[in-house]
Amino acid sequence: MNLILFGPPAAGKGTQAKRLVETRKMVHLSTGDMLRAAIASGSELGKRVSGIMERGELVSDGIVIELIEQRLPEAEAAGGAIFDGFPRTLAQAQALDEMLAHRGSRIDLVVRLKVDDEALMQRIAGRYAESGRPDDNPESFKVRLDAYNSQTAPLLPYYENHKKLVQVDGMGSIDDVAGAIDQALDAPRW
Ligand code: ADP
Repeated sequence: MNLILFGPPAAGKGTQAKRLVETRKMVHLSTGDMLRAAIASGSELGKRVSGIMERGELVSDGIVIELIEQRLPEAEAAGGAIFDGFPRTLAQAQALDEMLAHRGSRIDLVVRLKVDDEALMQRIAGRYAESGRPDDNPESFKVRLDAYNSQTAPLLPYYENHKKLVQVDGMGSIDDVAGAIDQALDAPRW
């Protein structure tokens, strides 16, 4: 079972992914986490991406596609992956479909967490005060939201055409959202 958690920055994808790792033993593949780990390790890759991420822009497709490809065998061995923050562009979505097809696998479900921009801005203001994540500052967050709306949201029709898309209200409590995701995962699929 391969699942994409889809939605704007700060929609709650990471929170829900962590719960699914515990309840379903799936592997959590977050390109944001992988890139932050690269920065923390001081690697060449980390040096290349840190400025881009801090500004809230997208790093290049080639970098994130390679990061994901390296982790697919591990996810397969666990019985499935939760993709979080990937794919973010049409090129990434197509590459993911190809990489999975190559391994005799596929994306089974795309769960879109719907949260309006206003609520996201409020959430992030609180999170920035607490976490101090550099790209949670108001200017960078605006860039991230714009990148989502212009480059990532256009993937929705792609997954709708492939009959993979399920929409979930992301404005409820963490438990309510979790319940809606569980329902989507356990529903019979066509
Ligand atoms: P959020 O979902 O809160 O925006 P992420 O942790 O998913 O945060 O991503 C943080 C940053 O990492 C993005 O703003 C971008 O710079 C970079 N990034 C993560 N995933 C991708 C991706 N799939 N393609 C391009 N850039 C990415």
